Amino acid sequence: TKLEDWAQSDEYHNSFLIRKDEALDSALQTSSENGLPDIAVTSAQGKFLKLLVQSLRARKILEVGTLGGYSTIWLAQGLSDDGELITLEVSEKHAQVARGNIENAGLASKVKLIVGNAPETIKELGPAESFDLAFIDADKQNNFTYFQESKRLVKKGGVIIVDNVVRYGRVADPTYLDDRVEGVRTLLKGIKDDTEVDATTIGTVGEKGYDGFLYAIKL
Ligand code: SAM
Repeated sequence: TKLEDWAQSDEYHNSFLIRKDEALDSALQTSSENGLPDIAVTSAQGKFLKLLVQSLRARKILEVGTLGGYSTIWLAQGLSDDGELITLEVSEKHAQVARGNIENAGLASKVKLIVGNAPETIKELGPAESFDLAFIDADKQNNFTYFQESKRLVKKGGVIIVDNVVRYGRVADPTYLDDRVEGVRTLLKGIKDDTEVDATTIGTVGEKGYDGFLYAIKL
């Protein structure tokens, strides 16, 4: 199948480009042992996020959707010693697994996990224009709310990444009507005439299928 080919290609590239990391491997393992869904970013995507943090020399990062902390660890590994990451998660169970994983990665002092419904908790964050990067990967129905709030929170020139905006091409297929797909469409419509941001979609394909990141900057 295509998925097997894509997974094989990821594995091939990763074998050259991604070093073994005990904390990341263990985060995936404990997530699975605790029954969390297998919906974290791939290692290639996690590495991209880490490299982005380093390129931006980001010191303050927002993440929406923690799950077991896998992407959190990738992002926080790119931070400098005085850097900080705030991650938002609604599930107390996911948060508990994530706390263990973040602690095990030696990143607890840099990561603040806020448990609660992110459309509400994100509104309490501030000050405006204090973050360098936002990574949005939670309930897709609220993508536009998260994007608007992230736009408030990131500095001019700051980056907002939204995961899962392609969904095997379903977002572009008008016969597809589920709420997650609609959540992405609402986001795209909202960005279309927004002169405060500029954005593009980067399609991603690999071990977790065919999807994409929206990459936006605040102008
Ligand atoms: N970013 C993670 C990674 O790559 O390792 C994966 C995040 S997973 C795709 C989405 C997470 O968002 C889940 O843990 C889910 O519980 C959380 N979530 C869903 N709805 C939420 C909400 N309203 N507020 C906060 N978190 C929410």
